[in-house]
Amino acid sequence: MNQFQQARNQVLNQIKNACDCARRDPATVRLLAVSKTHPSQSLREMYQLGQQCFGENYLQEALDKIEELKDLDIEWHFIGHVQRNKTKQLAEKFDWVHGVDRLIIAERLSSQRLDTQPPLNLCIQVNIDAQDSKDGCQPDEVSELVAQISQLPHIRLRGIMVIPAPDHSQAFIDAKELFEQVKPQHAQPQDWDTLSMGMSGDLDAAIAAGATIVRIGTALFGARDYSK
Ligand SMILES: *Cc1c(COP(=O)(O)O)cnc(C)c1O
Repeated sequence: MNQFQQARNQVLNQIKNACDCARRDPATVRLLAVSKTHPSQSLREMYQLGQQCFGENYLQEALDKIEELKDLDIEWHFIGHVQRNKTKQLAEKFDWVHGVDRLIIAERLSSQRLDTQPPLNLCIQVNIDAQDSKDGCQPDEVSELVAQISQLPHIRLRGIMVIPAPDHSQAFIDAKELFEQVKPQHAQPQDWDTLSMGMSGDLDAAIAAGATIVRIGTALFGARDYSK
């Protein structure tokens, strides 16, 4: 077994165990492989092991990989901060965007999504534990954003994304509560099915609280090298 296969099996096992503890069906938790800084060849190898969805943070790096890997049926997720002047490429090249925290961004994504494409899947990023340096809207803004964004024609509004401080598992519980609370505001409540939370260091707590997408980088690909 190669290194990636071992790492991926270990993560899948950890997800399964966390689901067992939480009495959840492992099929309700998707593994998103976070591949920022890693070369296309690593994604290709991970794909060949059965990994279909990949998350990227930096637009230009992601666009290069999307081009290099266009022969594969990858589901591309953008999990970085969304800048207003970058929405067109996000709308056209990605299947999911997790980091939307303002209406204007969602409106631009909706109007720039092509008619020939299925609706763009979107999560609202929430600053759930009031960190100074983090992106995301405030929890009390989510209800109105859900009402507005869920009516955009080329958007499928799926849920909430959070990045709490390390070792702050209460934040996952708060995110789940907020997720349930705002659901009635959604114009198509059956689409509201996603809690994007949990990374390599805290996926157990996230799954216990109800995560449906865990975003895992280091545990799959190893440590990142930002020097290149
Ligand atoms: C980098 C990143 C991850 C992955 O973090 P790891 O600790 O390497 O698993 C998950 N989510 C977001 C938003 C990230 O930027």
